[in-house]
Amino acid sequence: MSVHERTYIMIKPDGVQRSLVGKIITRFEERGYKLVALKLVHATQEHLEKHYADLKGKPFFPGLIKYMASGPVVAMVWQGLDAVKTGRVMLGATNPLQSPVGSIRGDFCLAMGRNICHGSDSVESAEKEIKLWFPEGVVQYTSTMETWIFE
Ligand code: UDP
Ligand code: MG
Repeated sequence: MSVHERTYIMIKPDGVQRSLVGKIITRFEERGYKLVALKLVHATQEHLEKHYADLKGKPFFPGLIKYMASGPVVAMVWQGLDAVKTGRVMLGATNPLQSPVGSIRGDFCLAMGRNICHGSDSVESAEKEIKLWFPEGVVQYTSTMETWIFE
């Protein structure tokens, strides 16, 4: 487990439309993660099909792509200790009804097909997703808070 671990977190079109961008970013900032890439993008269906390639063939796939292409998303990379697994815990379960109160999905949404956020499910997926959404690379900088967040 590394303090340099990175995860790809995305606020989906419903999260943007519902003005939850600030709240979601704040949760990652307050937990102690470092923002190393961020942009607002209206992704193409083709790009989203690459992002969700593993789910191709699932019955919900066409609806998922349509939903994800329906408006801009906020694409982000967050860095810090156990970013992938802890990032997923912060998001909650895929089904918001099974997400604990206190998680992002458990606090802000109800339906699986409108679950407002995405987080990488493994370090390998994170690397792939970061390359797909940020081919230009992420930003390297030192956070002055690091010595107060990590031993
Ligand atoms: N999804 C859905 N119906 C399902 C399963 C998934 O609409 O039965 C959507 C949901 O928005 C989910 C996304 O497809 O976030 C990707 O599915 P995955 O299993 O990767 O869940 P996640 O990793 O986002 O929790
Ligand atoms: Mg997934």
